[in-house]
Amino acid sequence: MESGDLRKVLMSACLLGKKVRYDGGALSVDDQIVERWHSEGRIVSVCPEVEAGMSIPRPPAEIFKGSGKSVLNGEVNVIENDGGKVTNEFLAGASIALNLCRKFDIDVAVLAEFSPSCGSSAIYDGSFLGKKVPGMGVTTALLREHDIQVFSQYEIEQANKALIE
Ligand code: SF4
Repeated sequence: MESGDLRKVLMSACLLGKKVRYDGGALSVDDQIVERWHSEGRIVSVCPEVEAGMSIPRPPAEIFKGSGKSVLNGEVNVIENDGGKVTNEFLAGASIALNLCRKFDIDVAVLAEFSPSCGSSAIYDGSFLGKKVPGMGVTTALLREHDIQVFSQYEIEQANKALIE
């Protein structure tokens, strides 16, 4: 890192207002800390699913009876609600996010909660019935395996502390 550069933070693109979600929408956060990060040039944006080549919109996907960690271990799959298997796309998206962290020397991320890619403390259970279970998405699991701290949009103050400590 060059002297004078501020530490960067990886953020889910949908939280920054980009319309990249499966339904074509965004999940914008309105937060002063995020606005400051933006003006300081700290934010690196990523949508792992779109970067991996998935379309907008796309069918909803959930991890089937497992979490991001078990997807990384090859134990379970990510499936779309029509039964299509998208595990490889989710793994590719996670790798792209990790590569961005390496490129920009990032060790703090703020990712969208409940997503099968970006969730950090809870995800949907694979039944497509709206049931949440404790767990994390595939990208979060990979980043955490590499000691990157992942927070959700509900933990921006904690992420800021981790970033400036
Ligand atoms: S993969 Fe992550 S960044 Fe992309 S839409 Fe889903 S939650 Fe947002």
